[in-house]
Amino acid sequence: MAKNEFMQNLATMPLYEEVLLDLPGKRIIEAYMNHADLIEDDSIDIYCIHCKEQSIFKPYNAGQIHSGYVNYHAFKTRQIPYGGLHFSCTRNQAHIFEMQIINIDENIIVKIGQYPSKADLESPNLNKYSSIIPSRYLSDIKRAVGLSAHGIGAGSFVYLRRVIEYLINDAYEEAKKDDAFDQEEYQKSRFVEKMLLLKEYLPDILIQNKEAYSILSKGVHELEENECLESIGLLSATIELILEEMLNEKQRKEREKVIKSGISNLHSQIKNKST
Ligand SMILES: [Zn+2]
Repeated sequence: MAKNEFMQNLATMPLYEEVLLDLPGKRIIEAYMNHADLIEDDSIDIYCIHCKEQSIFKPYNAGQIHSGYVNYHAFKTRQIPYGGLHFSCTRNQAHIFEMQIINIDENIIVKIGQYPSKADLESPNLNKYSSIIPSRYLSDIKRAVGLSAHGIGAGSFVYLRRVIEYLINDAYEEAKKDDAFDQEEYQKSRFVEKMLLLKEYLPDILIQNKEAYSILSKGVHELEENECLESIGLLSATIELILEEMLNEKQRKEREKVIKSGISNLHSQIKNKST
């Protein structure tokens, strides 16, 4: 099913960014505003928080926008069209996706509201990592995505950086238990060098992408807001991949333990039988 690229972009972009309407965009918005049927396919492909997977959403009525004009006393001559765009999941009509837009200028619209939030759509699977990282750090990742959805770049970097710092500190606590670990050298090392010293205790993906921490730190102090916003998706995906590797490793160890004790029990049963 072909997606409506204009609506897809609108659905996935942060709030409060001005969207300059090109001709197709303008035609779509006008069709929505005027309760007219859309000619082209108007589906969008987003995560459904109820189905818990990607799903196709369609407007739940043809030409379904609720639109209106706000009359401002101070600007008697000016009317501001605004409206809600209502979509529902093609698997179940009760699964809705809503966007509120305002037409601030003839050719410019701004998305001023959305449900479910961008953070809910983009980090739906984080809860599965609750066995390997405290939930407040999972909340930090969601908060980072949420802030970036509101156009806050450097602020969202702070939360992601905190997650990496937690992973390092946690690995350090583990490493300290080993007498061979050189704590003195660790204490005087820079952050990225610390990561290398903790190599054995950290997921490979984190070591391979250790620059992610430097980028996050640089972002907090030196990068422009839009530079942060452009890279936040990649950085949160990197952290998610790190957590995935940790979860896989934990599950593998658990399976290994079950198999080991199973084999050991089976072995002693067979041994008892033969004696
Ligand atoms: Zn659904």
